[in-house]
Amino acid sequence: MAKPQFYLTAPQTERCILIGVVTPDEKSWQVEINLNELAALAETAGAQVVEKIIQQRPQLDPAYYIGRGKAADIAARVIDQNIDLLIFDNELSSTQIKNLEALIEVKVIDRTALILDIFAAHARTREAKLQVEMAQLSYYLSRLTRQWSHLSRQVGGIGTKGPGETQLETDRRLIRRRMASLKHELDKIEEQDRTQRKKARTNINVAIIGYTNAGKSTLMNALTRAETLVENKLFATLDTTVRRLHLDPDKTVLLSDTVGFIRKLPPTLIASFKTTLAQTVDADILLHVVDISNENFYEHINVVNEILGELGISAKPVLLIMNKVDKINDNNILPKVKSLYPEALFISARKNLRLDRVKAALLEAINSRG
Ligand code: GDP
Ligand code: MG
Repeated sequence: MAKPQFYLTAPQTERCILIGVVTPDEKSWQVEINLNELAALAETAGAQVVEKIIQQRPQLDPAYYIGRGKAADIAARVIDQNIDLLIFDNELSSTQIKNLEALIEVKVIDRTALILDIFAAHARTREAKLQVEMAQLSYYLSRLTRQWSHLSRQVGGIGTKGPGETQLETDRRLIRRRMASLKHELDKIEEQDRTQRKKARTNINVAIIGYTNAGKSTLMNALTRAETLVENKLFATLDTTVRRLHLDPDKTVLLSDTVGFIRKLPPTLIASFKTTLAQTVDADILLHVVDISNENFYEHINVVNEILGELGISAKPVLLIMNKVDKINDNNILPKVKSLYPEALFISARKNLRLDRVKAALLEAINSRG
């Protein structure tokens, strides 16, 4: 079986069109926000966004996702604008991908495949690499299954149980076997980690969390002066970094910088990254970093809180840190946000503004938990 490939490794930058669909149960401003984020993801993956297309539809088209007429329009633009790649904001079935690729004659992927691609490019440790492979296989397997049920529905019956079906079965079995062995290896790593974390239990653990690109790694660096990778890209780091932070002569905490949270994070990834997220789950205190210069920051706060809920840790003590105040030009914004979040700290991690407040608040939080 050929290993599934989701990489966008092209010799030069791929030119892409992003496509979103507004249906009656989705708001158009929401789809616009999603497409902006998809653009950032595409750039992180090394693609150049040439155009964004939003289509209104009463319902999704089972064969083409967008309508066939719209697909034909896009085919013309692909030729005009020399496009290499179409990226859909929502998950496509393998039938839809196949139909679109046949009609438009260009590579078609969806948001999940794009995110998996970025995760694959940014995983550094063995554990992160195994987790990414696991997520890729699980994504691939679900699409094989879907294609399979599509085939049996469309052409099923006598005479169709040919080599195609056997090949699918073989692929599925091989994928399952590989997933089982990955899981075994990941369990072993998790067990080692857990023993190590137990040993380190005398320390107080603080996890920096937040929406991707909020400034988590910058804050980590500013507080600890460590050389963590800082990039203006979504998911610049996948692996957790842990550093010591001295709060006062006799108080030291372990500070960890984790993968950023994001809207529509594929469930397969959340499952695969459980061990990476374990740093967050095990933390005594969370620093929730927010980029208040981003116009969607209220929503980002909600996405992060939702994921904390999914991880079952909504009750942990959280310090809300409003970052990038240096980027706020409008004098009316800060007072408004302050009145909505009276407990929040306002800082600039990049300009080293008010970092002493963060340390003081951490000390206070630690002392008050006794
Ligand atoms: P992370 O994804 O949350 O780890 O975000 P990063 O720490 O990698 O930062 C993302 C981008 O935001 C980088 O380009 C940083 O330089 C920038 N950034 C972080 N903090 C600040 C800040 O306080 N002010 C400004 N203007 N930019 C910041
Ligand atoms: Mg980071």
